[in-house]
Amino acid sequence: MLNSMPKPGMERKLEPPAPLPPGIAVRGDPGSELAQRTHPEQPHPYRTPFARDAARILHTRAFRRLAGKTQVFTRLPGDPPGDHFRSRLTHTLEVTQISRTLARALGLNVELAEALALAHDIGHPPFGHAGEKALDTALQAYGLSFDHNLHALRIVTWFEERYPAFRGLNLTLGVKEGIVKHSRDYSASAHPELSEFFLDQFPPLEAQLIDLTDEIAYLTADLDDGLGSGILSLDGVREAVPLFRAFHDDALRSYPTAPPKLAIYEALRRFLDSLVTDLMNEVSARVGALGEPTLAAVRRAPQRLAALSSEMEAARAVVKKFLYANFYNSPGMEEGHAHAAEVVQQLFAALMADPSLLPEDHQAEIPTQGLARTVADYIAGMTDAYIEQLWVRCGGR
Ligand code: MG
Repeated sequence: MLNSMPKPGMERKLEPPAPLPPGIAVRGDPGSELAQRTHPEQPHPYRTPFARDAARILHTRAFRRLAGKTQVFTRLPGDPPGDHFRSRLTHTLEVTQISRTLARALGLNVELAEALALAHDIGHPPFGHAGEKALDTALQAYGLSFDHNLHALRIVTWFEERYPAFRGLNLTLGVKEGIVKHSRDYSASAHPELSEFFLDQFPPLEAQLIDLTDEIAYLTADLDDGLGSGILSLDGVREAVPLFRAFHDDALRSYPTAPPKLAIYEALRRFLDSLVTDLMNEVSARVGALGEPTLAAVRRAPQRLAALSSEMEAARAVVKKFLYANFYNSPGMEEGHAHAAEVVQQLFAALMADPSLLPEDHQAEIPTQGLARTVADYIAGMTDAYIEQLWVRCGGR
């Protein structure tokens, strides 16, 4: 455990990063392979294809609904409830900030990284992971499953209707590939429908980064929200998370008279910075060890190149394990999770029993998608408040 502790004062040793060789970044010009669209479009006079994709994602209904979807708290703590805890939207913006910073520092395609960060959670159902698990369980009874990355692809390729010329957003190949593959790989045999996304290869670094920036953002934010809500105690975090304790000690040494809250913020700032810097340095090192500095080599490397160093990876695992045991699955949260599961399961059953309760545009999907998938698609799009209201209207209490 002690090995995973950063040395105090780590944040003062930062050096400017050396950008990766130019052949590593995804090309963003309209002629590049990954900037192609299913329906060809005229290049924009002053916006790149990936910048247009980031804007298209930002302007969707699915993106706006992130404001009403759980990140961690299915019920906001406090009386009156605290209104400063993360939603899935503010989490997404934090992931976007970190991803842009890293992509710029590494010389990667910032606009591609931004588009992927903005899109990374739009496939999430209401009520966070409790809602996702309940929806998946409901689908299993019909031989189906729920995967939020694949659902995100369905949103951007089908459910978002904004353009008269085509269904969906007509995003570039690179953004669609990254939406599907940023956090996991899919086998070609199990997913023939994804064959255009280079399933035998890793995604570009811009996509690989998102899995880590997502985790760095939420681990930091959840320590913040966990302490802010009172569910986590400062002593408990300090005792169980050496990475935090080292930076908190550092902050107290730097600012001995700082109010406790500001010493925590300072520790979290250094915590976040250390993870981002470690990721940046590890990516640089792994790319440096490649035989040839090309995107093709990144794709065919023996392993993903976006990763933390082994020392920081061990520290990350400690934080994550602590948060699962003491925050996400803590007794105070379980009541909310049980309620979320009940709402999703009961509404799913009610819609399966009476499909006429589905909106007309969803009913039109039943012949091609089947009823169970159609019901899941409808539920997955809902915000927490919307599903609660519909559940009550369908007889739930
Ligand atoms: Mg996320």
